[in-house]
Amino acid sequence: MRAKSLKKNKVHVVTLGCSKNLFDSEVLMGQLRANKFEVEHEAGAGDAAVVVINTCGFVEDAKKESIDAILRWADAKKTGEIDKLLVTGCLSERYKEALERDIPEVDAYFGTHDLPRLLKTLGADYKKELVGERLLATPRHYAYLKISEGCDRPCSFCAIPLMRGKHVSRPLEELIGEARRLAAAGTRELLLIAQDSTYYGLDLYGQRRLADLLRALSDVDGIGWIRLHYAFPTGFPRDVLGAMAERPNVCKYLDMPLQHCADRLLASMRRGITRMETEALVHEIRDRVPGIALRTTLIAGYPGETQAEHDEMLSWVEKMRFDRLGVFPYSHEEDTTAFALADDVPAAEKKRRAEAVMEVQRAVSLTVNQAKVGRVLPVLVDRREGRRWIGRTEHDSPEVDNEVVIRSPQHDLAVGNFASVRVAAASEYDLTGEAFFIQTVV
Ligand code: SF4
Repeated sequence: MRAKSLKKNKVHVVTLGCSKNLFDSEVLMGQLRANKFEVEHEAGAGDAAVVVINTCGFVEDAKKESIDAILRWADAKKTGEIDKLLVTGCLSERYKEALERDIPEVDAYFGTHDLPRLLKTLGADYKKELVGERLLATPRHYAYLKISEGCDRPCSFCAIPLMRGKHVSRPLEELIGEARRLAAAGTRELLLIAQDSTYYGLDLYGQRRLADLLRALSDVDGIGWIRLHYAFPTGFPRDVLGAMAERPNVCKYLDMPLQHCADRLLASMRRGITRMETEALVHEIRDRVPGIALRTTLIAGYPGETQAEHDEMLSWVEKMRFDRLGVFPYSHEEDTTAFALADDVPAAEKKRRAEAVMEVQRAVSLTVNQAKVGRVLPVLVDRREGRRWIGRTEHDSPEVDNEVVIRSPQHDLAVGNFASVRVAAASEYDLTGEAFFIQTVV
């Protein structure tokens, strides 16, 4: 039963899925606030009359999580806990008709390019002048910066182009303007995100301009770290390595999903690259940007993956020594080209293979981290936990990578500060150390 009187002009936003979805929720919240709505994200006071769920439709597990969230809030509407329920994002884009049929309690479903219509449904106007402004859902000292939307790649297993459309780069000036406003508001770390960040500029300028963007962002006062995510290996723009190497505030960090190493599967996945070419690229990146940390993502149990190809991946992960690695069990997604293949690796075997890859990576990650013991590293302080502080090195992205547990007997650290930390100990996924100097900006 309704515990509290509901605020008609208050919206509770729920975000599922990736950082790009979080970015979209931040844009939505910025628009709502400019329309005099009160907004809250995730944690709530329970008095918002309206709930907006920004869903994910990428793979099976993510879809299930989104549907569970919709059902949870549909129940809340039935019991009068809320008045209105709106659903947007990738799942809604991909399965609108089925969702309207199966969960009719939802007042309206919207696609991934439907913000003006969603706002209209709440009696709000879409304010074009706000482009580049949003209400951050992350701690103020770091922010995601979506540099483009959509994807033109043909990866066989991926449904994202179906939900996000063709690649559209955001103008460079708009991104610089946004970075300046964020820096002025206290953001110290910018995380560049896209479906394929290395494609940046091709559609808009007829040439890849990611290196130009990195340099321009690096010139923005107050930005201590710029981190690059979602690079695509095929056609990787080499000038990006130059920008990384020459600019101290461009993190020596690169997230580049590679998905697999077996040539037969790379071809079936339509990745446009071979194992040899991938290794050559990785070596060139490590040569031209010394000390760079590489993060990658792999798929286990792709249709037809043999035991031998799985074993090849295990020995490859051991050999390539990625600093950070994630692995997904393959998800058979309708309307993707891989859907025509037999999904012949049983779910339990997919899971077992993914765990086996992470077991190999655990050992790699431990040695990578142990090599940092005794070194002094700049660490961005993210939060306090009791008498300790938790932060990240330039080799660690929020939410997905390692953390540093910081003791600071002499100095009172502050969230958003950079501190010099001497690493005292290392485990597979964390470092421990002592802060002995506070920096304002690296
Ligand atoms: S690059 Fe490939 S995997 Fe990534 S979003 Fe595009 S199609 Fe999907």
